[in-house]
Amino acid sequence: MPAVSTETLTQLSYLVAAALFILGLKRMSSPVTAVSGVRWAGVGMLLATAATLAFMGASSLNLMLVISAIAVGGIVAWVSGKRVAMTDMPQMIALYNGMGGGAAAAIAAVELYGGTEANAVHMAMATIGGFIGAVSFSGSLIAFAKLQGLITKSVRFGGQKFLNLAILLATAALGVMVASGAHSGLTVVSLFFVLALLLGIAMTLPIGGADMPVVISLYNALTGLAVGFEGFVLDNAAMIIAGTVVGAAGTLLTQLMAKAMNRSLGNVLFANFGETSAAGGGSVTGTQKAIEASDAGVMMAYSQKIIIVPGYGLAVAQAQHKVWELAQLLIEHGAKVRFAIHPVAGRMPGHMNVLLAEADVPYDRLIEMDDINGDFPQTDVSLIIGANDVTNPAAKTDKSSPIYGMPVLDVEKSHTVMVIKRSMNPGFAGIDNPLYYMDQTLMLFGDAKVFVGNIVKELTHT
Ligand code: NAP
Repeated sequence: MPAVSTETLTQLSYLVAAALFILGLKRMSSPVTAVSGVRWAGVGMLLATAATLAFMGASSLNLMLVISAIAVGGIVAWVSGKRVAMTDMPQMIALYNGMGGGAAAAIAAVELYGGTEANAVHMAMATIGGFIGAVSFSGSLIAFAKLQGLITKSVRFGGQKFLNLAILLATAALGVMVASGAHSGLTVVSLFFVLALLLGIAMTLPIGGADMPVVISLYNALTGLAVGFEGFVLDNAAMIIAGTVVGAAGTLLTQLMAKAMNRSLGNVLFANFGETSAAGGGSVTGTQKAIEASDAGVMMAYSQKIIIVPGYGLAVAQAQHKVWELAQLLIEHGAKVRFAIHPVAGRMPGHMNVLLAEADVPYDRLIEMDDINGDFPQTDVSLIIGANDVTNPAAKTDKSSPIYGMPVLDVEKSHTVMVIKRSMNPGFAGIDNPLYYMDQTLMLFGDAKVFVGNIVKELTHT
């Protein structure tokens, strides 16, 4: 039997790693299998890294450097991953994603500064990957700073879009020079990277903090793409496949998030949302009926079918454990209790699933919007906790509303609607919600955790 060459072994390992990435990603699409999906993809990454190290034939000094880098990065990631609060997850993802983009740009820099690569296609790949990676790196760092509260203001000024366009065109022109190899001196390559980094900063600074999850998802897709390009440069199949998979998954997620918010990606990137939305949608007038926890508790104790609608306020109040305590009490009282999950409730994809999973709410009680919307007319009480935009019926009826066309939960069709929030303040979209003035709606003013806690106290005495 002929001996298997190291090249064949490397490519086989990459193939297995790629299969593990794809299967892992597939498993991540359901909360039931998500944890194992992360593990599968992790094993794939380990295999790809081990194969590269084992077969790349590096000098022992290089090997030491690589292993040290992996050890330092691994320890930092392990400790920060263990410590991060669930609500800080978006900025953590932004940071890690930025590192991926930066790493891709660094590979490009080695190639382009080295100038040893004669192949024109490789030079072009390295340049494009370097450009995308650098934009993603600096953009992700700004996104991190905004979500972490390190940058609190969105920097906006007249002519900003033209300035950004000018930076883009200048970077592209330098990129063409670098890729052609004709004028790729040290200064030109450096200027190319500086401008690409500047573009990421300039693009991200004007975007509002609440739009950052969509932006992070976009940068995630870009990082994947950059890694894919650099995979071609290094002739590394695992990088090409992993980069393409991340690029495709990130693009789909970005599109899904934008669609669920009824906005185009262009609108997210260029419209300065918080400012424009205040102008649209007429303000709603009328009276609301406020009730206390004791009345809410009594009404719920006699209800058969209850749907709980969690939103951003539930995350802010960290009320997930109290809410599950309430749901369990209602179930003991004989009610059918389910949770309605809107795709963009909260501030990151899967935000509500993650929060409720933290409180050990069983997955089969979490029902996606499309599957539960038909059940609201037969529901006794819809209990909305810190959700606003995702329940706004104006999205279906008011053509002037900035969220017109966004799919929402049909809560107003239930017999009684109870809304826990602290005030009449709007949510993310900055618009009034006519639901609060409807006949069937009762307002429960207070902090979600405190109010739910009070209802729990009432129910335990019933
Ligand atoms: P929302 O429309 O932002 O409303 C949240 C509500 O929670 C507010 O009206 C607020 O009212 C209330 N609240 C805040 N703190 C509270 C507390 N401690 N206790 C009780 N209530 C509290 O949230 P949503 O209905 O979940 O909708 C999400 C919005 O974010 C959508 O517009 C979506 O497009 C957008 N978005 C989502 C994502 C994502 O990936 N999920 C990403 C970006 C943007 P009070 O101040 O009166 O209490």
